[in-house]
Amino acid sequence: MPNADNSFNRNNSEMEQPRDWWQAAKRGFLGRCPHCNEGKLFGAYLKPVNACEVCGEEMHHHRADDAPPYLTILFVGHLVGAAMLFTHERGWTMSVWTEALLWPLVGLVLCLWFLPRFKGALIAYQWALRMHGFATASPSRSPAQMISNPA
Ligand SMILES: [Zn+2]
Repeated sequence: MPNADNSFNRNNSEMEQPRDWWQAAKRGFLGRCPHCNEGKLFGAYLKPVNACEVCGEEMHHHRADDAPPYLTILFVGHLVGAAMLFTHERGWTMSVWTEALLWPLVGLVLCLWFLPRFKGALIAYQWALRMHGFATASPSRSPAQMISNPA
């Protein structure tokens, strides 16, 4: 006969199951909820939703901070730098003005494209590792529980 203690232990063990961080990061990179892969992770360009509209997973616990721009600049800088070297090594000549317009524009477009993706992947990574309040967050918690214990 199940009792309250057994159900508590079962729910507690479900919360302790490891999450696949690589799968979560891929979902976050694509702007989807790392838990259900159906809800949107962002309500605006760089503004994450407070909770997933499909599964209710709380997303406001993230602490992405400066890491997404850092990763974006690191990645895009190497990409554009390699592209510049590649064109010069191949002997594809462009005028100075063409290069002065082309490479910053390519860098800007790539930064704007990668920034929300790196931010989504980082938020999902934090979710998978239960960082910054994701450990105690659960879509099954009632609003009363969230108010009494917001962490
Ligand atoms: Zn979801």
